[in-house]
Amino acid sequence: ERKNSKGINMNIISESEPFFAALDKFKDQQWSAGPIVNGETLSGETIEVKSPYDTTQIVGKVAFANNQAIEQALASAHNAFGSWCSTPVEVRANALQKLADLLEENREELIALCTREAGKSIQDGIDEVREAVDFCRYYAVQAKKMMGKPELLPGPTGELNELFLQGRGVFVCISPWNFPLAIFLGQVTAALAAGNTVVAKPAEQTSIVGYRAVQLAHEAGIPKEALQFLPGTGATVGATITADERIGGVCFTGSTVTAKRINLTLAQRDGAIIPLIAETGGQNAMVVDSTSQPEQVVNDVVSSSFTSAGQRCSALRVLYLQEDIADRVIDVMKGAMDELTIGNPGSVKTDVGPVIDATAKANLNAHIDHIKQVGRLINQLELPAGTENGHFVAPTAVEIDSIKVLEKEHFGPILHVIRYKAADLPKVIDDINSTGFGLTLGIHSRNEGHALEVADKVNVGNVYINRNQIGAVVGVQPFGGQGLSGTGPKAGGPHYLTRFVTEKTRTNNI
Ligand code: NAP
Repeated sequence: ERKNSKGINMNIISESEPFFAALDKFKDQQWSAGPIVNGETLSGETIEVKSPYDTTQIVGKVAFANNQAIEQALASAHNAFGSWCSTPVEVRANALQKLADLLEENREELIALCTREAGKSIQDGIDEVREAVDFCRYYAVQAKKMMGKPELLPGPTGELNELFLQGRGVFVCISPWNFPLAIFLGQVTAALAAGNTVVAKPAEQTSIVGYRAVQLAHEAGIPKEALQFLPGTGATVGATITADERIGGVCFTGSTVTAKRINLTLAQRDGAIIPLIAETGGQNAMVVDSTSQPEQVVNDVVSSSFTSAGQRCSALRVLYLQEDIADRVIDVMKGAMDELTIGNPGSVKTDVGPVIDATAKANLNAHIDHIKQVGRLINQLELPAGTENGHFVAPTAVEIDSIKVLEKEHFGPILHVIRYKAADLPKVIDDINSTGFGLTLGIHSRNEGHALEVADKVNVGNVYINRNQIGAVVGVQPFGGQGLSGTGPKAGGPHYLTRFVTEKTRTNNI
């Protein structure tokens, strides 16, 4: 019934040439965005959006939502709930299928925006649109499966027992900047598919991507009252909409600190007890034993650590190397790091683009300075000429003695390496678990029993054996963590929609 989307094969000229020609049309475009309330774009105080790659380049401008827009959006989404919830699930699913088609039709503009507004590489932009498309189609199919008809339950003769699933009300969707289209739309489409109306707040750094996504969703047939868009800061828009009594649930992806703050807001507000779906950060490890193949390990370590400038929640942060293989892996890794091309994310040659903003750059550089004192530097790349106007951080690898010196997630191109003795593996597992995070885990081993034992004992949501640990695919590796990394259920998985619905039984003796 459903297939995941296709990529672009850059080696086939008949595929790549038209793609780059279409992409080129957006290289100087400037977009204008703002709150979309009942389908209308509202004006307000605007900010200028500058490219993280070169802050002298203007990508567009965004008006942030004021209190009036917030109130109107919440009131309309609340009023629209009854009608959208009772819309047949097939109709809701068809609108999402249409949205997937529109995303594909507008692929180049969306990729250009991801590159220019979020500093994503072209390959990341392609993958981002594909994931958004896959979410739309996946949740459309899941909603039909789950909600198409009530589940019949047993009962005495003459009694009809049925279990119905229905939307919960207004779902607030709050997303991060690192997957400005895929996570933004993943949350929104899941909530809509399940029969909720939505008030969506994008990350303030990537409001234009969210704005275009909402325009396309309305064009696809999602009623304008059922999907409201409120760009603005977390402290203002985010805090106000999560505190509102009328909302029926919150779907959040971002840092653990913000998730806890929202949890507190929900606990303190008036009104019903409502669910919080929170997908948060990680302190992701990879455990490499001496049976591994060093070249393959290095390939997977470098892509897991430095793709997207390390700004993936799944990215590898702590590499454990069994001491017998450590020198060889570190040696090959240094060379592989030297081959990375840092620069303009709009060029296909670029492997590592900028980080999102000046604050992220300052925090990451402060951590690099600190960790170089605590540990031993393995490699730190030079930033090439032409990166001075952007938020670039040099990919860096440092050897440290223990994961415990890392007090939090460092969301950028920084890899920490720890050597371990075979006999200390149980301690390695305990140390990883002691961080409290539980998002991704990589394992490299040719001893299957050993690999499966580590996979079993480390408390994480997604384990990858003998490959990189990024790039979860919808319906293939449902994504989400445990503990400080999130509440579940997993995005892009068969249980995700269950958290967006409420259950009702009807016992009928007529
Ligand atoms: P963040 O700072 O927590 O922000 C996430 C979103 O929450 C933004 O839209 C933000 O608004 C909003 N926000 C901030 N304070 C708020 C409040 N008091 N009430 C309501 N909303 C509030 O995270 P980020 O820096 O954007 O994203 C990076 C983090 O996301 C990393 O920790 C990464 O690991 C995690 N992440 C996790 C996953 C996953 O699936 N597990 C996926 C991607 C990213 P602003 O626009 O003002 O910032």
